[in-house]
Amino acid sequence: MPVKIALDLDGVLSDSMGLWVEIWNSRYGPPALGVEDIREWDFWRGLGITQEMFNEVFDEVWRSWARLRPLEENIGEKVARLTQLGKVDIVSGRAVKHLPYVKSWLKHHRIRYDSIFLGVPAKNRLNHTVFIDDSPIEAAQIAGTGRYVLLRDQPWNRHVPERRFILRVRSLDEAFQRLVGEVFPGMLSQGI
Ligand SMILES: [Mg+2]
Repeated sequence: MPVKIALDLDGVLSDSMGLWVEIWNSRYGPPALGVEDIREWDFWRGLGITQEMFNEVFDEVWRSWARLRPLEENIGEKVARLTQLGKVDIVSGRAVKHLPYVKSWLKHHRIRYDSIFLGVPAKNRLNHTVFIDDSPIEAAQIAGTGRYVLLRDQPWNRHVPERRFILRVRSLDEAFQRLVGEVFPGMLSQGI
């Protein structure tokens, strides 16, 4: 079966939490919140806000897509490198209503992909071969199905230890290296 890579959006390609805290601070600060302060996936509970309020700021993040920074320089080239290994789909839990903003952002940063799936509630139900994600919850669920997750290092996933099927990476290039070296060894030399 050909390799299908599920590439996450928020926290892997885009610095969504960077803009989230900017918007949060401009509305509700001080005290100013920083991305490094976000140590848990559901950190918003610690702010004493509802999930709806968290989502509402996230809506603003994607409406403001022109201000949203990629997490790496030349990110389009780094994604293109992954396509040497197989199909690359953008897979995200982000609401479907954000699709126009997401597509504009991807185009602006010259990120090419095969398909895009938004509004995905649980990625382990998809048939992708391997996942690049920053969610500790998705990582545990996917690893539970015996498939690899390259866990993009973020403050909110640092408590997750490396274990079978979970490999911590700090960049898309590191993800590429570990895919070639550990997940699909010999793949490039076979010319698949
Ligand atoms: Mg994410």
